[in-house]
Amino acid sequence: MKLHTINTGFFKLDGGAMFGVVPKAIWQKTNPADANNLCTWAMRCLLIEEGNQLVLVDTGIGNKQDEKFFSHYYLHGDDSMEKSLAQLGFSTADITDVFLTHLHFDHVGGAIVRENDKLKPAFKNANYWSNEKHWQWAVEPNAREKASFLKENILPIQESGQLKFIKEQENIEWQKNISISFAYGHTDAMMLPKINYKGKTIVYMADLLPSVGHLPLPYVMAYDMFPLKTLTEKQAFLEEAVNNNYILYLEHDPINECCTLQRTEKGIRVAETFNLSDI
Ligand SMILES: [Zn+2]
Repeated sequence: MKLHTINTGFFKLDGGAMFGVVPKAIWQKTNPADANNLCTWAMRCLLIEEGNQLVLVDTGIGNKQDEKFFSHYYLHGDDSMEKSLAQLGFSTADITDVFLTHLHFDHVGGAIVRENDKLKPAFKNANYWSNEKHWQWAVEPNAREKASFLKENILPIQESGQLKFIKEQENIEWQKNISISFAYGHTDAMMLPKINYKGKTIVYMADLLPSVGHLPLPYVMAYDMFPLKTLTEKQAFLEEAVNNNYILYLEHDPINECCTLQRTEKGIRVAETFNLSDI
């Protein structure tokens, strides 16, 4: 197996919303905000090469939305999905599987492209993987989460016939060396891939832990639907991770790709940070 980081650029989100109940005086030390109170976040996808399969985990925000939409998110950086794949000698047509942790626009926007006013899968030869519970949650969204579930990112996947569901069962073995964990606090039935790689376990954290800055337990995003559930899930996961020496792969951390954990008197905190290519 080979793993590759796929950078798709940076965006900005309100710092307060990203840190929930934590005061700005505290979070701004690690995540400085701009004049509009926005902080920079990565949209870092992951490519898994295993046998004949090329699995992409999440797709970034994509490029099909209108100027008004993008004006809220201040996209920046030189990376894009196409560029990052090309640097590895791949194209979007080579992807066999697109694994969607959940269907919020910063994770699934790149799944669909607009071509001649038609919405089509960006990965024409791929199966797209979600789960039935999350899919239902996303296509009939509650008013609070509606702005994150954009129809144009979601419905064309189903219409293309490329949509597949993973059985919702904790630690289900999805592919050789990839099992799936489920989390219910950020949104309903978000999926986190756990990958066996070079004798280590790497977990793609999606929005259970967006960045190193979110390690302290009460640092839960205001975007989460069920913050107390996130807190419980995060606590259990961090225990499991520190006990088993997991490597955490961080989708939104603006600087750190990966980290390991250690116990400290304040709780479980970061031990080391490094890039995937250093493993
Ligand atoms: Zn996200």
